[in-house]
Amino acid sequence: MKKVFESDIQPFKMCENIYFVGSTKVSVHIIETDEGLVMLDTGYPDMYEQILNSMEALGLDPKNICAIFHTHGHIDHFGCTEKFKKLSGAKTYISRIDNDIVNGKLDLSWAKELGLPTPSFFDCDVLIEDGDCFSFGNVTIRCRLTPGHTDGVLSFFITVPSSSKSLVAAMHGGVGLNSMTTPFLTAYNLPFTCRDTFRNGLHALADERVDIVLGNHPQQNDTQGKLNKVLSGESIVDHDEWVKFLTATECAFDHELKNGL
Ligand SMILES: [Zn+2]
Repeated sequence: MKKVFESDIQPFKMCENIYFVGSTKVSVHIIETDEGLVMLDTGYPDMYEQILNSMEALGLDPKNICAIFHTHGHIDHFGCTEKFKKLSGAKTYISRIDNDIVNGKLDLSWAKELGLPTPSFFDCDVLIEDGDCFSFGNVTIRCRLTPGHTDGVLSFFITVPSSSKSLVAAMHGGVGLNSMTTPFLTAYNLPFTCRDTFRNGLHALADERVDIVLGNHPQQNDTQGKLNKVLSGESIVDHDEWVKFLTATECAFDHELKNGL
């Protein structure tokens, strides 16, 4: 019998320690570590059951989540945080800057824009600064501030322990141009300089050596294509994909700027 809450992307193990449990709407990842499971983003508020089912299908116990990291403070990335925290007792992490969105000080959660009710607000336990690094036994998560999409977007660089040498999986935490449009910035009285900081962030990240590209939304890293690769026994390690992704993102950005973003 088909489960009611099923993702439209089959949950799958992407590599040694990283699992995809999100949907086409937004990515949610689980990182397996010596110290428990680390969750990257928690999806839209209506995704709780789906994520639980996806984790169950992969043999991951949600009660073992020890940490929840957020790429940024938009509702599609923190929608189920409180539920997963309640279930597991996990510590929650976000940039110090975007904590002011999830705690409601700043009205920038995008709930209104996405047609969702005002979320219940909360403070995260750990407020991340640029360059902070967190170790969970055999896995390290390094955080870089890459503002633009919000002021406190974090990009993550995650070690993937491998039998040969350890690899790096990375995710840019927010490349959507929707929060950098003229109508949005004007409506919320936000500075247009966020567009320059966004571009600078793309350039800064190009120096990173990345072996596996994770997507904040599945369209960013062709998650479905990666699933197909995994299903056919192929590796998703690709040393060129990161820089290609950053370049394509900047090209799309330039195109939109030309069209009056
Ligand atoms: Zn966002």
